[in-house]
Amino acid sequence: MAMNRIQFQPGLSLPEFYKLFGTEALCAAALQRARWPEGFGKTPRQRCPDCGGAAHCILRSSGSKVFQCNACRHQTSLIAGTVFQSTK
Ligand SMILES: [Zn+2]
Repeated sequence: MAMNRIQFQPGLSLPEFYKLFGTEALCAAALQRARWPEGFGKTPRQRCPDCGGAAHCILRSSGSKVFQCNACRHQTSLIAGTVFQSTK
């Protein structure tokens, strides 16, 4: 019978999992690393979804970061356009 590679991939222990994803701030940091590894605006794929601008500022609204494009004022967040959109 063929071995299922998914089943035998290395996992995380619970303490290791909590170290990476134990708080909302750690989850946001992990998502930011995955979405904008070099930082928002650093590469063409990671620029403003509206106008492609790289310059931005970070606003904080009720605890979550909002990234605002300096050129067109388009606002986006870490979870916008991801599977986490519209979640709390
Ligand atoms: Zn823009």
